[in-house]
Amino acid sequence: MDTNALFTMALGLKSPWEVRTLDFNADERRLDILVDFERGASFPCPTCGQPAKVHDTEEKTWRHLDFFQHAAYLTARVPRCKCDEHGVKQVAVPWAREGSGFTLLFEALVMTLVQGMPVAAAARLVGEHDTRIWRILHHHVDEARSQKDMSGVTQLGMDETASRRGQNYITLFMDMAARSLLFATEGRDAATVAAFKADLLAHGGKVENIEEACMDMHQAFIKGVQAAFPNAHLTFDRFHVMKMANEAVDQVRRQEAKDHPELKRTRYCWLKNPSNLTSHQRERIQDLKCSNLQTAEAYRMKLTLQDFYEQSNLLAAGQFLEEWCEMATESGLHPFVKFAQTLRDHAAGVLRWFVKGLTNGILEGINSLIQAAKAKARGYRTVRNIVAIAYLIAGKLRFDGLAPLWGSPLGAATPLPT
Ligand SMILES: [Zn+2]
Repeated sequence: MDTNALFTMALGLKSPWEVRTLDFNADERRLDILVDFERGASFPCPTCGQPAKVHDTEEKTWRHLDFFQHAAYLTARVPRCKCDEHGVKQVAVPWAREGSGFTLLFEALVMTLVQGMPVAAAARLVGEHDTRIWRILHHHVDEARSQKDMSGVTQLGMDETASRRGQNYITLFMDMAARSLLFATEGRDAATVAAFKADLLAHGGKVENIEEACMDMHQAFIKGVQAAFPNAHLTFDRFHVMKMANEAVDQVRRQEAKDHPELKRTRYCWLKNPSNLTSHQRERIQDLKCSNLQTAEAYRMKLTLQDFYEQSNLLAAGQFLEEWCEMATESGLHPFVKFAQTLRDHAAGVLRWFVKGLTNGILEGINSLIQAAKAKARGYRTVRNIVAIAYLIAGKLRFDGLAPLWGSPLGAATPLPT
């Protein structure tokens, strides 16, 4: 077998395409493969599929998988053919998608790499500028998302994550049952919910199917969800309720620390449960805990609120919540009076947990994955890039167009936290 025939076979080229010449340059560590079609070949018209004669050609080059440790490039004359009915049309080549400077196999490799490493690292590894790698990533994520079927979505979870330190929020919308990311976008208000609704409808989702929505007590979200999904029962997430309790404890502590310097730098001791404290932290707050300090009282109220989630049924939980709110109000500690009022105002959603057991723990897990991804997206931390990484990590996307080329499924295999 001659070398051209070997490369034609190895590349999987079918008639009329074949390898014509190979040009290997050891100094530049580069192999150039010239591919051409047989003289007189006709191509199917892209519109009707009828064979059409070649009208003219345009030379193009694509980067392919490396040849050993050398970069390999395919160059070919891409024909435009002339159909009697549809006129002059560009023919698609089997090894690359239109507009890309890479072969599909190279793109499949890149999509595999970016699922396991930062984009910048993948770019270094293959020796390409990372803007080109981002372009590949965006194309295939967009393509895979366009295929996403949301017709079965009934339970929503939503949460926000900061896109930069302390500013610019990105809101994530999850399918709680499938544990997959449906939609991510900038902002955290009613317009954000409206944008999600439009995307859901565009992917076959139905407003009337949405029965449950799990979120924090962010007023704009609540209004947005009630307007967009009138059938949805709201659950105010356990994580966020306990987070608010912790914030209330800390507000009490900060106020009191002005007169009680022993409370300074104890913030994290009060946030943790007793069983999770380090021995050092335990020592630090051992005496404080049993004192008459307001912070200690606030801490005990927080621990009591945790028992709320141990109640065996809705009725018991309802009574417990009311008693707890009464106690918090009577404490006279301003942050707890306020918090109790918030809980009362949102009691139905807080108690909904005892009906459906929905919790945004899954979102918290995804949030931490995305924070890690952001740390890795150095220099290209645009909202669009972060959103694309979020879909890649948590979207359970299927890269069907690339999978058969590679021999194994390329779908995002990152396991989601349970
Ligand atoms: Zn045609």
